[in-house]
Amino acid sequence: MRENKIIAEGKSKKIYFIDDDTNFMVFKDHLRSITYKREENIKGTGIERLKACIYILNLLEQYGIKTELKDRRLKTFDNEIGMVVKPVRAIPIEFIARFYAAGSILRLYPSIVKANQKFDPPLFKYDLKQDISIGGVDDPTLNESYIVGLNLLTQNELDECKRLLGQVAYILNKELDQAGIRLIDFKIELGFDKSGNIIVIDEISQDCLRANDMLTDTSVTKDAFRQMKSDDEVLESYKRFNKMLIRKKNN
Ligand code: 5GP
Repeated sequence: MRENKIIAEGKSKKIYFIDDDTNFMVFKDHLRSITYKREENIKGTGIERLKACIYILNLLEQYGIKTELKDRRLKTFDNEIGMVVKPVRAIPIEFIARFYAAGSILRLYPSIVKANQKFDPPLFKYDLKQDISIGGVDDPTLNESYIVGLNLLTQNELDECKRLLGQVAYILNKELDQAGIRLIDFKIELGFDKSGNIIVIDEISQDCLRANDMLTDTSVTKDAFRQMKSDDEVLESYKRFNKMLIRKKNN
């Protein structure tokens, strides 16, 4: 087949270079939670994340949001299943929106935040993606003054990122709600395409969302892994997320 060059590889993803306008992203069966000190390969989770990601990126495109997705469908390259994406320049920030209090906000602000407290409008948080851990913190939280003052983005670019985060939050919350899933919080990544537009890049899946089945109030995303559920239970949660979300649309 074509040149088989890996341009980026982490524990949970691998990106192949296909040509100057095309990359190929593969999801591995790997899960890690630094906070809960659990790291494992759980067979089958990679494909479930890939299905969710392609579904969600397509959905965003339908709402007029540009994403890095180049082909609407799941594809095979070099015997690996993945998604065809555009080359992008990633912004080193995790853009997070919270609808309910869970995770780091509970650990860091116990005097002012209660578990499950609702945030309407959702709260936004910006974490620096940094490969080194300092003082036990690997992705320290930024504020808008840091983002602009440290030259990560111009004020206009930051405004555009906030607008996109708000739109994605609205769409995800609405679509998951219709599927019987309560969205608690999520993370997206953004980057520049070749024309300089800011677009949604990377993964949006069970790995980057905190969300519960509304009927049972149990996690259908990565919290199942953080809650030390068995490998089979974690895989079942990831599958359930797709069954609920994707089946809903086909009805
Ligand atoms: P928290 O601030 O509670 O750590 O995370 C808030 C939300 O963003 C959660 O849904 C979490 O899964 C997601 N998130 C935060 N940091 C990361 C990250 O480094 N990787 C992934 N996949 N998701 C993250």
